[in-house]
Amino acid sequence: ESIELVSFCQAIQRTLSITYNRNVQFLSDRDEIYVDWDPQKLKQVLYIFVDNAIKYSDQPVQINLKEVDNRITITVIDEGIGIPKEDLDQIFGRFYRVDKSRNSQSGGTGLGLSIAAGIIAKHGGNVTVESEEDKGTAFTIYLN
Ligand code: ATP
Repeated sequence: ESIELVSFCQAIQRTLSITYNRNVQFLSDRDEIYVDWDPQKLKQVLYIFVDNAIKYSDQPVQINLKEVDNRITITVIDEGIGIPKEDLDQIFGRFYRVDKSRNSQSGGTGLGLSIAAGIIAKHGGNVTVESEEDKGTAFTIYLN
């Protein structure tokens, strides 16, 4: 199924900023971008990343849509607590959570990122992460 991503991401941005009562911004370098994805699955994936970005920061969260080398990417950026270097290659594993004490109030299961990575792989994409402690985190989803 083909999705028009600019309006799709705008709708998600509006819904999530209202639901969480947080500043969620959306930026795109094009007016229209089409991708072949299951819309329900894409929504689930974006909710997982934006939910984390909101949970682990208190600053505005940005959703950035771009085409890079013929690949369509969505980057979710926060200026939050960041992820320690030694944890970066493990966060996509099932049930993995960084230092339970730092986020015991948020009480997640550590499943979100592994579910997201699985859905992305099934659609022929991949995901990368860049993070610095106390600076923030950027997850880039390559949709195709
Ligand atoms: P929780 O996030 O509460 O652990 P979860 O089910 O959302 O539950 P995942 O989404 O799989 O877990 O995230 C795994 C771990 O990666 C989290 O525990 C958190 O420590 C870390 N993490 C994920 N996203 C971010 C982010 N944007 N900023 C900082 N840490 C993050």
